Amino acid sequence: MNKPASVPEQFDVVVAGAGFSGLYMLYRLRQLGLSVKVLESAGDVGGTWYWNRYPGARCDIPTTDYTYSFDPELEKEWTWSEKYATQPEILDYLQFVADRHGLRSDIEFSTTVTSARWDEQENRWRLTTSCGSEIRCRFYIMATGCLSMPKAADIEGAGRFAGQVYFTSRWPHEGVDFTGQRVAVIGTGSSGIQSIPLIARQARELTVFQRTANFSIPAHNGPAPADRLKQLGEDRAGYRHAARWSRGGVPIEPTDVLGGTASEAVRRERFEAAWEQGELFGILNVFADQGVNPAANDIVAEMIREKIRSIVKDPETSEVLCPKDHYFGTKRPCLDTGYFETYNLPHVRLVDLRKQPIASITEEGIETADESFGFDAIVYATGFDAMTGALVAADVAGRDGVSLQEKWAAGPSTYLGLMTAGFPNFFMLTGPGSPSVLSNMTVSIEQHVDWVAECLEGMREAGLETIEPTTLAEAGWNQHVQDCAAITLHPTANSWYMGANVPGKPRVFLPYIGGVNAYRQACDEVASQGYLGFRLTGPGEDRCWDGVIRRMQPDVAMVLEIMAGMGMPPMETLSAADARALMAAAAQTRPPGPEVGEVTDGVIPIPAGDLPYRLYRPAGPPEGPRPLVVYFHGGGWVLGNLDSDDPLCRDLCARSGAVVVSVNYRHAPEVRFPAAAQDAFAAVQWADANAIELGGIPGQLAVAGWSAGANVAAVACQLARDAEGPHISGQLLICPVVDSDMARPSYIENGDGYILTTALMRWFWDHYADPADRGDPRATPLRGDLKGLPSACIVTADFDPLRDEGVAYARALEAAGVPVRLARARGHTHTSVTMVGVVISGAPVRAEIGEALRDFFPAP
Ligand SMILES: Cc1cc2nc3c(=O)[nH]c(=O)nc-3n(C[C@H](O)[C@H](O)[C@H](O)COP(=O)(O)OP(=O)(O)OC[C@H]3O[C@@H](n4cnc5c(N)ncnc54)[C@H](O)[C@@H]3O)c2cc1C
Repeated sequence: MNKPASVPEQFDVVVAGAGFSGLYMLYRLRQLGLSVKVLESAGDVGGTWYWNRYPGARCDIPTTDYTYSFDPELEKEWTWSEKYATQPEILDYLQFVADRHGLRSDIEFSTTVTSARWDEQENRWRLTTSCGSEIRCRFYIMATGCLSMPKAADIEGAGRFAGQVYFTSRWPHEGVDFTGQRVAVIGTGSSGIQSIPLIARQARELTVFQRTANFSIPAHNGPAPADRLKQLGEDRAGYRHAARWSRGGVPIEPTDVLGGTASEAVRRERFEAAWEQGELFGILNVFADQGVNPAANDIVAEMIREKIRSIVKDPETSEVLCPKDHYFGTKRPCLDTGYFETYNLPHVRLVDLRKQPIASITEEGIETADESFGFDAIVYATGFDAMTGALVAADVAGRDGVSLQEKWAAGPSTYLGLMTAGFPNFFMLTGPGSPSVLSNMTVSIEQHVDWVAECLEGMREAGLETIEPTTLAEAGWNQHVQDCAAITLHPTANSWYMGANVPGKPRVFLPYIGGVNAYRQACDEVASQGYLGFRLTGPGEDRCWDGVIRRMQPDVAMVLEIMAGMGMPPMETLSAADARALMAAAAQTRPPGPEVGEVTDGVIPIPAGDLPYRLYRPAGPPEGPRPLVVYFHGGGWVLGNLDSDDPLCRDLCARSGAVVVSVNYRHAPEVRFPAAAQDAFAAVQWADANAIELGGIPGQLAVAGWSAGANVAAVACQLARDAEGPHISGQLLICPVVDSDMARPSYIENGDGYILTTALMRWFWDHYADPADRGDPRATPLRGDLKGLPSACIVTADFDPLRDEGVAYARALEAAGVPVRLARARGHTHTSVTMVGVVISGAPVRAEIGEALRDFFPAP
């Protein structure tokens, strides 16, 4: 019974929602002895599986995996009947769980939380409900679902139709009989694809209105796969553990086969196996690079299109059903049972809304520009306002009355997808910024619930009352979420992951794509570091260990992990010859870099002998001369050659449109300081004198270099200035060595673990220059006279020991009146920006470098 508004009920915790998340949250909170109330809009438990009762509704993660794991006894008592269980069976299961743990007594059904306000005086949430009651609680947890807020039917005239209207997400409990009816289905996402074959069985005529063709593979439903059951039977705990630490929440072996390099036979075999298996994570794992590499993705996408063409007999219909406007996997792929086959039935018709958009819904049916359709029933399978819809709709206001809707006007902002700054003691389960919809959600739900429960338990033990993320930690996490998405093909699609299905919704990638395992690791680290990035308060306590949990670019972290796993000896323990051999071997295995128009090798005659060079000329027009960039490779004056920086030189050439001349200067320890610097200057003089022969424009010459190559490039500029020529238009210094002082903070922060270490830097210096020479500006250009030098672009990387000397050089140049562009390679190491074709996140930095190089020269 509802209490009068004047006597609000009080609970430790209120949970909104009684689906998979809310039920398990209630179970855990009860275990902690907290007073809990769950409020649920629906008339019973089940969430998704209460509402989505449309024909054909099933899970699309195998039910052996799409299930709770917190209660081993429950697992023994419940047996799923099929590989992909139906909605009624999953609903039965959730009802069974609720009964088994007596959960219903703490759930108020048919009750929606209509508003939530944070009371700063009381440190309590004040909730109001659709039943008119007011409830106070210390913690408010929204378990309101990622796919629970149906999208409104935003079609002109939607209210006018006189026949029956159904939404797949709000299907009548008594079911619908379409026998003898003319039925329209609008939408071909997951729900449409599941329901269309079954509606077609009953309907006299079925017309499907498709805006976007979707990728779907056959589910091959049937009994649960024997191999999976065997694994579970033999070691259930081990299997569940593996799921928790897998990428998607289902333990599969990630492939290392690359689409681009695999043979046609291997490609076909892997694809056919995945097609036969009928599992989402299988078809998403045909190639390791299909999520990031357009060419690899195209191979899988085209094979699926081939299948569609082989199933659908009418060539025109099959072409309309072939998805061509997005990369495979960038919209949620579907699993189906006889979906494409349905279009071979004589009473089923497909209308392509791209060619024939709906003009309006009428009383009788649907009108497109060319045709009028009469229907007895219209089924909307138009999806959800995903991930944020239910959260924003529930009118939550935190500190200073700022609502979630206001705070998230430009897109959701969360810390770990669990909390958001300004909203103390407010948790979201599977919120935006968590793996949620990209994962087996039961695994993600259990992880979130456990994390929140442990957090509340810890707070109680420590006598703390409030918890709230800091804006710094939250901004860092949001950046990381977007960084993870940016290296994939996902942001290219108009998907609901991007909010693109809801008019006016900000275009932001909503879930965390870094993986369930990586995410769990981050959450665990946050907790074990004393709740890094959270402010916790209690009587007489206000503690905050502020910071950002993930600052490194995800692909850079991956490269470091792979390299650490290779167990290579530290470079500085090797002889120069062995270190060079190691570098050369590594260069064999990397991608070649972009195509350029022409690559030629030659030699530069200098008094000390010939210096080899390699010239890169851009492809395409204009035909005539171009600006020249003389480039010096990295390698600590000891390592490197024309091959070592070849992909980077191609990249610089392609992006800048300049002719790049990469010069191999003499190396230490065979020839020590100042030979490398002298060679660099000699090479610049020679390139200037031979500009026309090299295809360059006389007088338009810049220098560039990476690491020690940037050191000699910077020195060459100083020598050219002192010699009053040649004229240098600009200097591009990528992660330059400009000083021998190793006391700067970046040496302390990044001195170990990021490939270029303090020890290696010392090894380089020892090979190159005597300590007495290291103060010479030809070794340490930071100590030179910087007046009158060419404009500079200096690139520094966050995780580089040399970062601070790069910044120091930029500041010193500016102080000397030199125009400087300081480009920060955020989340990168000393080497990662140069790893063309390997570290995707380096591409935007290199795009900026290309722009800087072009800016050195007058516009063509
Ligand atoms: C058709 C369909 C199939 C799916 N299949 C899969 C699958 O195979 N694998 C997978 O991993 N995921 C699948 N999902 C995603 C699915 O949503 C999750 O797996 C899971 O069921 C989510 O559970 P939940 O408890 O977090 O949210 P939900 O199940 O969505 O429950 C949220 C509940 O909160 C209630 N609620 C919302 N707002 C309020 C409010 N303000 N006050 C009170 N109550 C409120 C809603 O009524 C709802 O009952 C599917 C989703 C759909 C729609």
